Amino acid sequence: MQIGDMQVEMLSDGTMRNDGGGFFGTVPKVLWERAMPPDERNRVNLKLNCVLVRAGGKNILLDTGVGAKHNVKTQHIFYLDTGHLPADLGRHGLAPEQIDAVVFSHLHFDHAGGATQRDAAGSLRVTFPRAQHLVQRTDWDEATHPNPRSAGGYFEQDFAPLRQANQLELLDGDTQIAPGVWCRVTGGHTAGHQIVTLEVDGRTACFFGDLIPTPHHLPVHYTQAYDLFPLDVMAKKRELLTRAVREQWLVLFDHEPEHPVGYVTQREDGRFGWKAAEA
Ligand SMILES: [Zn+2]
Repeated sequence: MQIGDMQVEMLSDGTMRNDGGGFFGTVPKVLWERAMPPDERNRVNLKLNCVLVRAGGKNILLDTGVGAKHNVKTQHIFYLDTGHLPADLGRHGLAPEQIDAVVFSHLHFDHAGGATQRDAAGSLRVTFPRAQHLVQRTDWDEATHPNPRSAGGYFEQDFAPLRQANQLELLDGDTQIAPGVWCRVTGGHTAGHQIVTLEVDGRTACFFGDLIPTPHHLPVHYTQAYDLFPLDVMAKKRELLTRAVREQWLVLFDHEPEHPVGYVTQREDGRFGWKAAEA
């Protein structure tokens, strides 16, 4: 896809299954199970969508998926088929060494896991050896000092090597990281969760991260059980979706398995809807 002079590609690290109750929070299963049919263990199928942005001569990657280093137990719980991001980059003609920046929406393992991998000797190393890795300081603090509720989503092996390699940059609030490429703090899912907006020639594209993981989460009250601050998610969704309709944003969803790209619509009763577009 072309947004002004930026080239934008949807990439994927693979698929996982996640508990449907966790993914839809207080929404009754009878409402979500038609949209996302669960397996016999109540898990719904998610894709690990990442985005490649080529802007200002830089190759910028948004999120990294789960990666390939998880143990058998974790693979089993989440039915992981992951670690495909480097190959998908290769299909777009890029080697990991050619990535200049990696932006994390947040450091949960399904977004940061692909940033590190184990070499043949079993040692951890950074997947993108030349890239600066950007995350909000607030999310870094949560990831490195989680409470018992947030701890399950963070794996130190995903991000500790970035600091050791001096490839970590902590952001304090909204930051323009390349011409027209903005990291914008939303909070909600985690206190330091951020989205990325691409703003060029009067057009905007938005990667929502886990604030709105699929188009099925467009209803403002469809929040995840994993959201640490669900009321903040609702307020931010309403604000951003209202703008997305008015300004015709191209929106990109991180966990949508079928149609990760499209435009938000609004019905007369105020509810948000959706029109898929070509990825
Ligand atoms: Zn996620």
